[in-house]
Amino acid sequence: MGKVIIIGAGGVGQVAAYKCAMNPQVFNHIVLASRTKSKCDKIAADISARFGVTIATDTVDADHADQVVDLINRHKPDLLMNLALPYQDLAIMDACLETGVHYLDTANYEPIDEAKFEYKWQWAYRERFEKAGLTAILGCGFDPGVTQVMTSYAAKHYFDEIHYLDIVDCNAGDHGKPFATNFNPEINIREVTQRGKYWENGQWVETEPHEIHQPITYPHIGPKESYLIYHEELESLVKNFPTIKRARFWMTFGQEYLTHLRVIQNIGMANIHPIMYEGREIVPIQFLKAVLPNPGDLGTNYTGQTSIGCRIKGMKDGKERTYYIYNNCSHEAAFAETGTQGVSYTTGVPAMIGAMMFLQGKWRKPGVYNVEEFNPDPFMDMLQVHGLPWHELHDTDLELD
Ligand code: NDP
Repeated sequence: MGKVIIIGAGGVGQVAAYKCAMNPQVFNHIVLASRTKSKCDKIAADISARFGVTIATDTVDADHADQVVDLINRHKPDLLMNLALPYQDLAIMDACLETGVHYLDTANYEPIDEAKFEYKWQWAYRERFEKAGLTAILGCGFDPGVTQVMTSYAAKHYFDEIHYLDIVDCNAGDHGKPFATNFNPEINIREVTQRGKYWENGQWVETEPHEIHQPITYPHIGPKESYLIYHEELESLVKNFPTIKRARFWMTFGQEYLTHLRVIQNIGMANIHPIMYEGREIVPIQFLKAVLPNPGDLGTNYTGQTSIGCRIKGMKDGKERTYYIYNNCSHEAAFAETGTQGVSYTTGVPAMIGAMMFLQGKWRKPGVYNVEEFNPDPFMDMLQVHGLPWHELHDTDLELD
């Protein structure tokens, strides 16, 4: 039915490539391209051995739009899936505009020299995509991604007005390493060390990093200390659901993780600005990435599960209702299916489903859109089928005041 190029051969790119290859009726031609081609070739060889499906591989440095244009011209895809890093979003969107190709990603653009998570740079492309008749689907992983589709599903089926939204993200897995991040370390550490921020009564409220925390009980896991952090999907959700009075994002962190993080910050290793080292410039956080475990390789001994969902309070037919929708994902099951751990899995599967929605014409309209702006129903159905089943609880205690 369609041809895709996937850029990025990390944990997320690997899962997406596997899942696209497992659905040949939709993805009849797949190209996996990245900066280091050998990583693409290894994934392609694994896919060929497991499913007998051949995928093409290629090299690209997606920091340079002209290289992405050349890549697109070599393969002529319908859709480009950007599963590299957020730094490449704008260069890849420029290349898509130049070549007339549709676009999807899993993380919003951030400038490399400033840890800022804002949609303004990508939303500024809306008119150009509209004029070109091209669709750009932003943030189609789990969070951002599924959490917004879940919110939109709740708004469509269960609420007249959503008033309170808490996105709760727990990783109760154990990878057996003293310290590792579950996705790209540089992006992850930039995200979790920033100041906290949530939406209340029409404005953003800022907190110190990790200042607000409380135990939250996760299904089949139990209570886990959860920390209020800022997360990018809050920005589009409060814009697209203006009845929301308060929107927050909670993530679990273990004490060991937080201690390592504090030390990393205290000794300057989380610094994103270049320093001189033995006559050459290095960026401390990029050097740190080079010595930390590769997130895509964590799967081997990873046990436990993730649990991510939305806890919502609002009004339906004049009555106050509560609703909790969530998915639990086993790291071991994710590894058995795709050779990577649950965090890569919960991101790569929705990216594949978003691409499927596009190729099937269900999520296709000219412009730049966050995922909650499309019909949630076909996407939610596909989550059940492709490895991320979800569950609902109605009128339950949400634990969050
Ligand atoms: P990794 O660091 O494991 O992989 C990133 C891949 O992108 C690598 O193959 C890397 O190549 C490649 N890459 C980096 N820079 C370039 C470039 N300039 N040109 C071409 N390729 C490049 O990251 P993950 O797989 O863990 O994460 C991928 C993306 O998914 C990130 O943007 C992350 O923020 C996002 N994400 C989203 C989530 C969600 O729920 N929405 C959750 C988790 C992640 P090389 O090997 O050469 O460095």
